[in-house]
Amino acid sequence: MIDKELLEILACPVCKTEVRLEGERIVCTHCGRRYPVRDDIPVMLVDEAEMPGVPGGGAPQAGASPDPHPPGAAS
Ligand SMILES: [Zn+2]
Repeated sequence: MIDKELLEILACPVCKTEVRLEGERIVCTHCGRRYPVRDDIPVMLVDEAEMPGVPGGGAPQAGASPDPHPPGAAS
C-alpha cells in the first residue's frame, strides 16, 4: 500500500501535477496518465505510464500507423 504522505509528495513528471491513488495505480489528476506501482514503489516514469483510454499503455501514437513510405525501400 502506498503511504499517503508519499503520495502527497509525488507529482506527475509530465505536468507536475499532484497524483492520486486509484486501485493499484498512481493517476495524474491533470493528464490522467497512470503510473504503475511495483513492490509498493510508485514508478513515476513517463515511459512506464499508461495514457488514459489506451489499453496497454506506452506511447499511443508513435509507430502506431504504418509508414506508407518506409526509408530505404527499393525504388
Ligand atoms: Zn500528468
